[in-house]
Amino acid sequence: MVLHSAQEILTAIQEKKDAKIVITTHHKPDADAMGSSLGLWLFLKTLGLNATFISPTDFASFLHWMKGSKEAVVFEGNETRSKTITEEADFIFCLDFNHLSRINEYGDVVSKSKAVKILIDHHQFPQGFENFTYWDDKASSTCELVYRFIADLGLKANIDKDIAACLYTGIVTDTGSFRYSNCSSRTHVIAAELMDFGIDHVAIHDLVFDSYTENRVRFIGYAISQKMEVLREYSTALITINKHELKEYDVITGDTEGLVNYGLSIEGIKFAVLIIDRSKIVKMSFRSKGNFAANNFAMNHFNGGGHFHAAGGSSLVSFEDTIAEFKEVLKQYKEELNA
Ligand code: 5GP
Ligand code: MN
Repeated sequence: MVLHSAQEILTAIQEKKDAKIVITTHHKPDADAMGSSLGLWLFLKTLGLNATFISPTDFASFLHWMKGSKEAVVFEGNETRSKTITEEADFIFCLDFNHLSRINEYGDVVSKSKAVKILIDHHQFPQGFENFTYWDDKASSTCELVYRFIADLGLKANIDKDIAACLYTGIVTDTGSFRYSNCSSRTHVIAAELMDFGIDHVAIHDLVFDSYTENRVRFIGYAISQKMEVLREYSTALITINKHELKEYDVITGDTEGLVNYGLSIEGIKFAVLIIDRSKIVKMSFRSKGNFAANNFAMNHFNGGGHFHAAGGSSLVSFEDTIAEFKEVLKQYKEELNA
């Protein structure tokens, strides 16, 4: 894979007169996806560039405070408008994903577009659909990469408080508040530099982690106390949520974010899994500790991928069959999980 410099990418954009730019990210964008997209969107605006942020789907309400989120075009529900904007685009920035399947039906639109595609991402095994690659799987987050992109251009002076707040947020969430193995000293330096733009990190933390609805907290309590199975034999904790429960607790976008992590907080547990019966697919989240590769597990058995310790996937068979299949597959990993 050939990596490109930030300068090569910006030069290509600036050489095109009145370039039209689209920024997009994975479906159900999390804080890193939203923070990096809006951070980049706000930054491109400081250069006088014409960019539109298109999200494949809606995003959690705890991210609505981010500057620019109201100007986001949501593909799902605005298909015609999104298609027109994408067809007219000269450049498409693809952030925080590297496989077109991660942007659902919008992937088709992006794939058919003649625009030059620019990838900024930190996930392993890129599909390779892009023309320019700004990629590092050692980066904590795509927000860290967007910061490095701006810094490489020598344009840190263009960062303002709003951009810094967006980028800081994705770094905090993707590193689990600076505790996962993806967090490096470089990540801390970048977070410190972002703080120097005058962001209110206490308020950001409050907005992202302490603004849950009562329903959401009760749902988490229910999921842990009633729906978590601890499979000691496999050092694994499994939470399963069916359609009825999603309805009963009025679960909305973002409400299940972070739920999978609770399993890993149990001593001796190395693998935590969340299986949710979503409307069209059965969605799976995987988290691991130590030497167990969650992304390989997701890739080999459940059409997924992600990072070594945090991955996801999906299944097209029924919810019940997915759970059974998962438990069956897990048997192959008994030794590895108990090593
Ligand atoms: P989450 O469990 O929070 O949805 O996702 C965890 C990580 O796995 C994220 O980095 C996300 O990009 C990746 N991921 C989640 N679902 C999928 C999937 O279906 N396919 C792939 N390739 N990656 C996924
Ligand atoms: Mn990310």
